[in-house]
Amino acid sequence: MNEIDIAELEVRFPLIKDLRTYKEVTWENPNYRNEVTADLGMADIEDAEKRLQRFAPFIEKVFPDSRESGGIIESPLLSVEKMKQNLSDTLGIKMTGELLLKCDSHLPISGSIKARGGIYEVLKHAEDLALQHGLITEHDHYEAFASEPFRHFFSQYSIAVGSTGNLGLSIGIMAAVLGFEVYVHMSADAKQWKKDLLRYKGANVIEHVGDFSEAVAQGRAQAERNDTMYFVDDEDSKHLFLGYAVAALRLKKQLDLKGMTIDREHPLFVYLPCGVGGGPGGVTFGLKKVFGEHVHCFFAESVHSPCMLLGLMTGLDDNISVQDIGLDNDTAADGLAVGRPSGLVARAIKYAVSGIHTVSDDRLFALLYQLAEHENLYLEPSALAGFSGYIHLQENHSYIRKQELKHDQHNATHIVWATGGSMVPESEMKEYYLKGKQIYEDVLKK
Ligand SMILES: *Cc1c(COP(=O)(O)O)cnc(C)c1O
Repeated sequence: MNEIDIAELEVRFPLIKDLRTYKEVTWENPNYRNEVTADLGMADIEDAEKRLQRFAPFIEKVFPDSRESGGIIESPLLSVEKMKQNLSDTLGIKMTGELLLKCDSHLPISGSIKARGGIYEVLKHAEDLALQHGLITEHDHYEAFASEPFRHFFSQYSIAVGSTGNLGLSIGIMAAVLGFEVYVHMSADAKQWKKDLLRYKGANVIEHVGDFSEAVAQGRAQAERNDTMYFVDDEDSKHLFLGYAVAALRLKKQLDLKGMTIDREHPLFVYLPCGVGGGPGGVTFGLKKVFGEHVHCFFAESVHSPCMLLGLMTGLDDNISVQDIGLDNDTAADGLAVGRPSGLVARAIKYAVSGIHTVSDDRLFALLYQLAEHENLYLEPSALAGFSGYIHLQENHSYIRKQELKHDQHNATHIVWATGGSMVPESEMKEYYLKGKQIYEDVLKK
């Protein structure tokens, strides 16, 4: 690869100057249009949803916290009116439209959005192996996956993954329950409690001093040396992508149940925290297939790790990293601490994503405190990032004007995607809360 001329890039994309000083920025996608560029379609999402349904009896059996939903791993969609009011009061602007929180923070099994993609890919791999070896047909009852002969069979195989924490948790927990040997390569950002929990569940945790991209590279290299090892590639996996995309079908049902229609007069805005891009990219892909031009998807990244923004804005996709422009990729939002985006995702959503906002750690902590205080919902720092997009769109109407949505603002629905938090240990959460309170009160005093 050619050396990247950063000075030249900065002339072409002046926003890089702000990125380099860790400023919060907004990037509106100049190429936005209602088009996903992936050779995947609605049939693939439906196929993934059917696979998850086949596995529901198994999941229900081995994970008691999924019993209420019959083994379907899904999260609540909650109205957060008090948060909306508080944002309105503290920012001094009138917030319009309906504000909802998609609580993937409270997904069963692993408490983050990774319970969608990560668990889906492990199940897909287990099913492939079981079908190939004649252990099961698609018409059998999948509770069999919880039986001793299946566990014994899977114990001949292993699964590896590289992660900042939550993907490792999802893959590690599910793979270990099925009987696989699991190797989780954790980046330096990964929290100690996530490593401890994984070891407790029976996974092998390998700690790396480098960042996410390095942990992924190590996992990939390990799997290449071993024929019976399967690698879940967070930088390049269409299965992860599809697992995330299923969320859109479920969300449609939840909105239907609330009697909310999405159409020209009632647009939907969705704000998704972004690390490597698989989660927000997969959800965006699904939402575009379900709601088309009436859904507008914005990503949110840490000011320390704006990898998707940098990749999409420059058109270099995964050929540029935040370290290339001198950023540290060091953030309290460990789920977003990714320096280089997934090329697969960048290429798939380069038109479909409406824009990207970046957010500082301080703002994440303040939002964490506000949401806990007013809605009694406790999230991890990464999971608050989406609020920045909602706030920006209330303050600045340039996107809305360009899309000619102005007169629909009161009829709009805004969904902030809360991507993780329910598994954070109480003592850690208390520290987050107190830190957020301090920052919030300091800002109010100014
Ligand atoms: C992984 C993660 C994200 C982002 O998902 P990517 O697929 O990495 O883009 C956001 N929030 C949390 C809490 C996460 O764990």
